[in-house]
Amino acid sequence: MTAPRSTLGLPRRSIAAALVALPTFWLGARAQSQVPRRATPSQTEGPFYPVTLPGDTDNDLLRNGTLNYAAGEPTWVDGTVADLDGRPLSGAIVEIWQCDQGGHYHHPGDGDRADKAFQGFGRVAADAQGRYRFRTIRPVPYTGRTPHIHVKVKLGPRELLTTQLYVAGAPGNARDFLWRNLSDQDRAAVTVPFERAPDGWKASFPIVVAA
Ligand code: FE
Repeated sequence: MTAPRSTLGLPRRSIAAALVALPTFWLGARAQSQVPRRATPSQTEGPFYPVTLPGDTDNDLLRNGTLNYAAGEPTWVDGTVADLDGRPLSGAIVEIWQCDQGGHYHHPGDGDRADKAFQGFGRVAADAQGRYRFRTIRPVPYTGRTPHIHVKVKLGPRELLTTQLYVAGAPGNARDFLWRNLSDQDRAAVTVPFERAPDGWKASFPIVVAA
């Protein structure tokens, strides 16, 4: 049996169902954006924030100037930056820095031993939806530390957050002095799964800051 059709050619019943569903949808979306969120926990900056920034500071850490970095496992790290009310922080600057596949940072404190082809540091502005994305390597452990990526968020002249991102299930997490000292809730906020992607790995890190 065919449902009676409206002048638009759509079954009347579908239109009625859509009209009933619409207010629920709107309420749902509103309620979601008003749920106060928990700020992403901060972590120490560590000793290796760049002293001098590389000439190339874009969001592709696998290409430093004209050099391509072929070591390590290519990884997309993406996410969103939002405030405590869930509003996207468009224009927030997200910075990441990490060691190369050999465990070295571009830093005098690490003997400047990092591979020149690895950019080691990148920054990008969150788009209108608060989204950001980096191309880098899956982080590796170095002496005393479980794999991590350092993350900093700035808005204009203000520094909103310095933290570290961890790999879910990494065997070194439980031995890491910084990760171990986080509460379960804080661990969950900074430890994300790295999943297989056609071109390596991908990980998503949602960032929430008081802005
Ligand atoms: Fe580090």
